[in-house]
Parts: sequence; C-alpha cells; structure tokens
Amino acid sequence: MKFKFLLCLSLALIGLSLPAFGKDDSQAPESSTNVLLWPTMDYTNFLAGYPNEARRAGLWKYFLAVEHEAKMFAGTEKNWKPINSVVLGQGIPIYVSTGRIRLNANTDWAMFHEIFHDTFGRSPFNSGTDKAWAEAFCDAFRYMMEKKYLPDPRTKWFAKVDHFADETYEQVMAKSGDKHFDQTYVYPASLIVRKANRDLAQFRVLWFELERLRETKGTDVLNAYFGYNMQNGRPL
Ligand SMILES: [Zn+2]
Repeated sequence: MKFKFLLCLSLALIGLSLPAFGKDDSQAPESSTNVLLWPTMDYTNFLAGYPNEARRAGLWKYFLAVEHEAKMFAGTEKNWKPINSVVLGQGIPIYVSTGRIRLNANTDWAMFHEIFHDTFGRSPFNSGTDKAWAEAFCDAFRYMMEKKYLPDPRTKWFAKVDHFADETYEQVMAKSGDKHFDQTYVYPASLIVRKANRDLAQFRVLWFELERLRETKGTDVLNAYFGYNMQNGRPL
C-alpha cells in the first residue's frame, strides 16, 4: 500500500514537473527523469568546518530544495552531473566543473547561482556564443529560487534584478556602478526574468523551448532570442 502510494506520487511528480519530456520514449533505464532517484551528496561534504552549525544546517535545507529544482531543468540524469561538495573558502563564490562549489563564511544566496552552473554546463547551451549566457541564466535561476524559497523581505540583489526587468538598457546603464558586471550578469538575467513573467514554471518552459529551438536550428539561439549581444554587452 505504502509502496503504491510512493509510486503514484513519483509518477505524479514526473508528470507535473517535466511536461516537455513526454515525447521522449527512448531513455535508457539508467537515465531517469525522476529527479527524486538521482544522487545527492552527503551532508558531510557540505560546508564542513562552517563556523555556525545551526546556520550550516539551515543552508543545507536550501541546498537540497534548490538542487532538486536545478535537476528538473536538466531533464534527464545523463544531463546531470552530481554536485559532489560545497566547500568553505575565501574570495568570491565559484563553481568548478568537477562538481565543486566554493562559498565563503559570509555567503549570501549566490549558492543558488552556483548550483545552476552545474545544470547549464551540461546543457546544449554550453557551446558557441550561447555559452556566454551562463552567468545570466544562473542569475535568473537565483532570482526564481529567492522568490520561491526565501522569506520576506526581499534581498537587495533580488530587488535590483526585479527593477532591471522593468527598465531599458539605457536606463540600467545610466545608473550602473559596474557596467561590465551588469552587462554580463544582472541585465541579461533581467531579460530572461521578464520573458518568463517572473514565474518559475514559465522559466522552465522557456528553458526547454529554447533547448528545442537550438536543436531545430542547429545553431546558437540566445543572442537572437533575447535581442542582446552577450559578446559585446549591448542590445542587437
Ligand atoms: Zn557564475
């Protein structure tokens, strides 16, 4: 009885979370679309040595929830590389392609951004000119995760992306304190957030639609789709 219930729940989750994959019947058994079955690292590999154990445990809960969301963008397990450790270090947060995230002791919610690097790096967008959109997509994902999971009040970072999504390129650049940063990260992220109507479900649909568009066209698509040249940081 219990097993049946769990099976139904799993099937329901697949159906709800991955509508774009209904057409693909060819997955190998080891390539599951049920993200609940995909591996997740042990807590022992998460911020070992963090100075505040209660905060570490709290961050772990966010990690699990947000990693789950990131897996749903990967679609199938073969497009997912497990994040094997989150380590404590100094300097800015980074993601290393071996599956390691480094955060510092004062880290904010950049962890959400770093988690999505794992997904983007295994996606079809990780080549050609589309590859340069990694930072923008990681920030758009962070925006959606902050919106869904963090309690009020909104962070300053969130408010910035949210405002940018209502403004033109000229308005953003006129007040930008770091043009190169805003051209690479937050402004193009705001274009994605705007296209998705600030909605996580619509963002996921957009992601899979863009994957299909890239596959159909057989070429880079993101600059043209968003009307923004990521290589020179200007609208097309
Ligand atoms: Zn990044």
